[in-house]
Amino acid sequence: MENILYLIAAVCFIFALKGLSSAESAMHGNICGIAGMMIVGIATFMLTNHFNLVFIISIILVGGAAGICITNAISMAALPQLMAGFHSMVGMAAVLVAYAVFLTPEIFGMIAPFGLQRSSLGEMGIGATVGAMTFSGSLLAFLKLQGICRKFNIPPALNAFLGMAMSGLLMYFVLTDGNRNAFILGTACAFVLGITLILPIGGADMPIIVSILNSLSGWTASGIGFTLHNDLLIITGALVGASGAILSHIMCKSMNRQLWDVIFKTERKDLAERLRVSRSFKQGCPEDAAYLLRNAKTVIVIPGYGMATSQAQHALKEMEEILAKFGAQIKYAIHPVAGRMPGHMNVLLAEANVSYDKVFEMDEINREFPICDVAYVIGANDITNPAAKKDPESPVYGMPILDVEKAKVILFLKRSMGPGYAGIDNELFYAANTVMLLGDAKKTTEAIIKAML
Ligand code: NDP
Repeated sequence: MENILYLIAAVCFIFALKGLSSAESAMHGNICGIAGMMIVGIATFMLTNHFNLVFIISIILVGGAAGICITNAISMAALPQLMAGFHSMVGMAAVLVAYAVFLTPEIFGMIAPFGLQRSSLGEMGIGATVGAMTFSGSLLAFLKLQGICRKFNIPPALNAFLGMAMSGLLMYFVLTDGNRNAFILGTACAFVLGITLILPIGGADMPIIVSILNSLSGWTASGIGFTLHNDLLIITGALVGASGAILSHIMCKSMNRQLWDVIFKTERKDLAERLRVSRSFKQGCPEDAAYLLRNAKTVIVIPGYGMATSQAQHALKEMEEILAKFGAQIKYAIHPVAGRMPGHMNVLLAEANVSYDKVFEMDEINREFPICDVAYVIGANDITNPAAKKDPESPVYGMPILDVEKAKVILFLKRSMGPGYAGIDNELFYAANTVMLLGDAKKTTEAIIKAML
């Protein structure tokens, strides 16, 4: 019975993943995921005998209440940090489970006549070290995405040393049938390695690392499943791990990066502190923008992180409806790493009821920029930066970008001439066909709407 329920739950999770692969079916995907979790909860309650019901229900209530409070308090723009924070908890759970099993194997029914089996010790060692790396790495990713911590170069030799020390201690732990000091030291190395691996990563590589950590948290959960002999945890962890790995691969491909380079190449030049020479640019007002938009036949909207922070998506939708009345054709161009998490812009546009058939991926829309009258860049920056194509010294070099510079006119909505996430200047601000509209994206869009009416 337990296995049948677990199998049904696993199938639900597979359908959840399938549903979440497109915006249209995401709701169904979520429902399948919730159903799967409920089946797991019921199976665990009904079929496991060794637990204190009151204690477990209290923990679920406290955890559930904390989850609701956190999700209500977090804005859409801070979702990536939230994800990184949650990944860190999966990592810590793996460490705690590994230590619980190591210290009290009898509670988990794992005591063999001559102590713990080496295979179990290996599982615990891997679970604890991968979990520790996931924990500290995700926590650091959280701090970076929150803007509390910046990029910091670490000598590759230090990472190599820590990696070797961790593997050596792990082997010693298994071969000595559970040397406690080796276990503790190996886990400590893994905690530090999580930090030193993530510290040098920044700019355009950050979304890939969040996705890798997502994958790692899945494999960690799978590892806990092996330790606890829980098939569902093994399957679910593998699903998360594999989907995260596939997403990391897709993101690497779309940013023209190698996974190996993202994790280990620390010598990428950070030009964040490069002096920006003040250059002249054209500044417009909402009335200028309204005039240009009213006379446009094709408009491509390029949303970025600033649209999320200013919550301009509803004003944007209103503008789309007005432009349609003027006979313009509007399309939305979505860069794979626009915003601060994969799918960030799609979620916001869906929230404002923007029709899916108006939303295009980068590869589909790029060929349309040369025939576009107005490119409306709203709170985006790095994803439009031509330096990604031209400047081998740039931190975003090699990242495919939206070919916004090919549009006849570019309306650039942002608050200042400051840089975006990668910390670098954007040539496009100074282009002859660019008009800068400085101010909050939502307020500027509302002012343009007013001027158009
Ligand atoms: P950017 O961070 O490059 O640019 C966002 C711009 O929005 C800023 O230049 C900022 O300029 C402007 N902005 C901020 N608030 C407002 C506001 N209220 N009104 C108007 N403008 C505003 O974002 P992009 O979306 O172009 O690119 C994403 C970047 O984030 C890439 O470098 C990517 O690598 C990185 N990243 C992406 C992740 C993902 O998974 N998608 C995860 C982590 C990082 P100003 O301050 O002048 O207003």
